[in-house]
Amino acid sequence: MKKLVTLCMIMVLAAITVKTAQAGDTLADVKKKGVLTVGCKDSLPPFGYIDESSRRIVGYDIDFVNAIAKKLGVKVELKPVTSASRMPQLQEGHIDIIAATMTKNAERAKVIDFSHAYFLTGQKFITKKGSVKSLKDLEGKRIGTAKGSTSEKNAAAAIPTATILSFDDYPQAFLALMQGKVSAVTTDEAILAGILAKAPNKGQFEIPNIQISDEPYGLGMRKGDTNFVNFVNKTILEMEKNGEAKAIFNKWFGPSTPFHLERTFKITADK
Ligand code: GLU
Repeated sequence: MKKLVTLCMIMVLAAITVKTAQAGDTLADVKKKGVLTVGCKDSLPPFGYIDESSRRIVGYDIDFVNAIAKKLGVKVELKPVTSASRMPQLQEGHIDIIAATMTKNAERAKVIDFSHAYFLTGQKFITKKGSVKSLKDLEGKRIGTAKGSTSEKNAAAAIPTATILSFDDYPQAFLALMQGKVSAVTTDEAILAGILAKAPNKGQFEIPNIQISDEPYGLGMRKGDTNFVNFVNKTILEMEKNGEAKAIFNKWFGPSTPFHLERTFKITADK
């Protein structure tokens, strides 16, 4: 019995050590290497997409990590991720932070840590104009979305009779809608608005006023990476206070942009 207790204690200690080793101290590591490696989207305007003239990834998510890197005095390296690959990429140490239209929720917070929310949207649908007035019109239909997203889960829960087709990312799902292979594409309204703004035949589609969830975005970091999480949180609260966060919002969502949205939130310390 005594042996067993000792063995259990050793195993618990080993587990704690492994966990700490996993989290490490990204803040110190990033300063040392002089680079913040960011997992971002590269085909979702205006969050993360390739700017045609500079051929660089730009967007709302990118401006937040640029500000964090500037404060740290380091460069930014952007690595495109998908909704499904972003958490494994972080956990395996290939990226330091996720800035990729990622909803902060309790289930994911068991695996990674999140910053305070820095954007707020909600899940809706893109459909052919006039085809969908309420959720009922989507019953038994095929709906496109992305693998590893909250959109996938929320849609299955809201319309259990629908067939959810999950693609690597939302532009592929929208292609399926244009080809008539699905009746709708579902994800966050701000992403849908970005897809629609860039669509060649946007007049044929619409985003009906049917919202099935709230989606607050957080920057994702490794679990237990406390120094880094604190630094990121402090920085984004400062950005809210000094107007930089609002300026970034206006740059990407202001009245003169194709993605015009009202800023209905402020960055505050989440509980
Ligand atoms: N915000 C949702 C999520 O984190 C949908 C957008 C995405 O897939 O990145 O799952």
